[in-house]
Amino acid sequence: MPPSGARWVDLRAALAAAERWLLPGACLLCESVVPARDDDSLVCAACRARWSRLPEPLCARCGQPLTPGIRCRLCTEWPDGLTGVRSAVWLEDQARRAVHHLKYEGWRRIAGPMADAMRPLVGDIDSPTLVPIPLSAARLKARGYNQSAEWAGALERRTGVAVASGALARRRDTGTQTALTPEARRANLAGAFVAVSVPPNPVLVDDVFTTGSTLAEAGAALLLAGAREVRGITFARAPRPLAEAARGVHGI
Ligand SMILES: [Zn+2]
Ligand SMILES: [Zn+2]
Repeated sequence: MPPSGARWVDLRAALAAAERWLLPGACLLCESVVPARDDDSLVCAACRARWSRLPEPLCARCGQPLTPGIRCRLCTEWPDGLTGVRSAVWLEDQARRAVHHLKYEGWRRIAGPMADAMRPLVGDIDSPTLVPIPLSAARLKARGYNQSAEWAGALERRTGVAVASGALARRRDTGTQTALTPEARRANLAGAFVAVSVPPNPVLVDDVFTTGSTLAEAGAALLLAGAREVRGITFARAPRPLAEAARGVHGI
């Protein structure tokens, strides 16, 4: 029999307290001693300060920093209605390590400090509903949680923003995308998502913006199901050389 509501909350609180005692007394990223642990922080203030914001001006649609006078070509093939995509920080050094800790090392609660960095992106949107990009069933089972859902939950706790975790589903496992060219990524992801429901003012939540193909496919699914406009936020964005290498050609 499942525990009653109150007892379950007690159990969760006890487990959280125990986990805090078991945490290393050091920053996960730089291993310096974290002075205050009362916010359950796993990342020290100095490391958070090293996460670098993207410089303005940004493309209004995809959030890519622009060279003044040159039109963005990254989002020209995006579906109409997908707009206002923003990333919190560049995928560099400590930000890359933070993503790695969350996705591959099981440090689920590092999503909290990362969500702090994403918080300003949500604050700019009127009455958003966060829609985490779903993992495949196999990957969710292997990891035990969806990193995008962790950020959405952390943002919900911090700001009260709505979350619709089940709005999108994956039709099939698309495997890892990292070694694929942009064309192969698009082909691999085509039709990968289906909208189960369309929440008001949907805002996709994803980990890293590399070519934007995941957001484009997920956004297309929500638009097809009737969303008038879809936005998106990611924790990090791959810097230009990496993004260009991933796309295989310069400037497309
Ligand atoms: Zn640190
Ligand atoms: Zn753009």
